[in-house]
Amino acid sequence: MTRLILATRNAGKITELRSILADAGLPHDLVGADAYPEIPDVKETGVTFAENALLKAHALARATGLPAVADDSGLCVDVLGGVPGIFSARWSGKHGDDKANLELLLAQLADIADEHRGAHFACAAALALPDGRERVVEGRLRGVLRHTPTGTNGFGYDPILQPDGDTRTCAELTPTEKNAISHRGKAFRGLVPVIRELLG
Ligand code: IMP
Repeated sequence: MTRLILATRNAGKITELRSILADAGLPHDLVGADAYPEIPDVKETGVTFAENALLKAHALARATGLPAVADDSGLCVDVLGGVPGIFSARWSGKHGDDKANLELLLAQLADIADEHRGAHFACAAALALPDGRERVVEGRLRGVLRHTPTGTNGFGYDPILQPDGDTRTCAELTPTEKNAISHRGKAFRGLVPVIRELLG
């Protein structure tokens, strides 16, 4: 059985990718970066989701000698020309402060009418092999941004993104409902044929 490592310390992401691999009948043993605590986190110096995902995947593949998967994601707002984008986690200036990031974005969009509040979550998932081969797959979840946060599930900008075709925000979906339509779910599922091709 080939061991595959995922560049995250987030247990939810590991469970999600593990179940996608299992559903696809791929026999790989997926572990998180926590299994190798001595390996430092990589600086995300890329300027696209794909570049950052590849940076993380290559660094982990080199350090462990294992095929490595990494993802990078964010929220892209149409009227803002695609930002916060790669800056989503630190939009308010403080990395990982979900509440401040969301509040700043809502304030910036306060005067923008519903018909101009289109946005999408984007995710790039990369697979890198220790020999340097690489692939990237991208996934998106389109929707509109609400004026006020609603729902308590999820994280980040989930309480304000209402997926197209739904009346609820992402924070009102169950994890299973969200994974079925999410940018990350799509990107991870897109990796299945790539893993099959490169790892068998
Ligand atoms: P990461 O690449 O998974 O670390 O995500 C970067 C940032 O993008 C997060 O801190 C969130 O602000 C935002 N983000 C990415 N995916 C989602 C999502 O599914 N829901 C809400 N926010 C997200």
